[in-house]
Amino acid sequence: MPVSEAYSACVLSCPDMCAYVVTVENGRVVRVRGDPRHPYTLGRCCPKGYPHVLRTYHQHRLRHPLSRNETGNFVRIAWDEALDETAEWMREAKKRYGPQSVGIYSGSGNDGMPPRLAARFANAFGCRMMPGIVEICFEGPYEGARSNVGPFPPHELSDCVDSQCIVIWGTDKFESSLHTKQVIQQAIDRGAKLIVMDPRRTPHAKMADTYTTIRPGTDAALALGIANEIIRRDLYDHDFVNKHVLGFEEYRTRVAEYDKERVSEITWVEPDTIEKIAVAFATHGPALIATAPAGMNHYTNGTWAARTVHSLLADGVEEPCLRQNASGHSETSWSEAWATG
Ligand code: SF4
Repeated sequence: MPVSEAYSACVLSCPDMCAYVVTVENGRVVRVRGDPRHPYTLGRCCPKGYPHVLRTYHQHRLRHPLSRNETGNFVRIAWDEALDETAEWMREAKKRYGPQSVGIYSGSGNDGMPPRLAARFANAFGCRMMPGIVEICFEGPYEGARSNVGPFPPHELSDCVDSQCIVIWGTDKFESSLHTKQVIQQAIDRGAKLIVMDPRRTPHAKMADTYTTIRPGTDAALALGIANEIIRRDLYDHDFVNKHVLGFEEYRTRVAEYDKERVSEITWVEPDTIEKIAVAFATHGPALIATAPAGMNHYTNGTWAARTVHSLLADGVEEPCLRQNASGHSETSWSEAWATG
């Protein structure tokens, strides 16, 4: 029985896109396992990935294009027919209403080349991707984050290992993000502090240095309250702000309206906790904010909430209140830093 190995990747709706080693027997996939040579996923897949073999050969899996007939039922058609029909619809729409009348949407499954190729195709046709190349449940907050920091996420996951202060904001990275969880743990093992805001007491919340519940839907107010404390205490990086931040004076004016007492009323987060988070974030950098855009997308101002949360990235600094040890890490305790502030 000929057995061979091939290389592939998970195509589920997940940005991690685990690399696979696929075992094939007699032309049929019999097993998938993580590829340990892949630098990001390191051979570890989640339980959704391993049953790919069952999914691939499941009798109900959609394998052919379908077209709705005059009775309203779907009937199988050939690939050429499906492509011709789609092209004709698009040509007709472009002729009658212009290219922008066509929208192309691609989900995040296989979050690598396919959505990007779809974006290139949309560009060549003259229409837009709707609304981007990730899930609908992500897009609003992603746009909010992008407005502030450009392409999002702004850095590689492996960079998180160097974080000294990790803020997990409204997401359960422990149970739902296998690879992020590992990197966060590595950072904690190297001395990073952990702050968690979440209405639920997640596993990371239980091990956090600072944990607070938050009234759902008030993330933007909490971010403004943290920024208020950072600016009031003059803990932000002036050089960075001068060089890289647009609209800081307007931001400062707006943020000044959100002192910790007012924010506490809105968010149900204790004023002392707001203060503590602000000081830790601003003085124990490099800091990292791990958010779940899908969470913030579940209320109407989610895009702006994400934008406000990501504005804090311009506020986090390393220098004030810190004494650097030989390895460059802070020797100042949180309480010390807080008192110094
Ligand atoms: S973490 Fe799970 S769902 Fe995501 S790419 Fe890996 S195997 Fe697939």
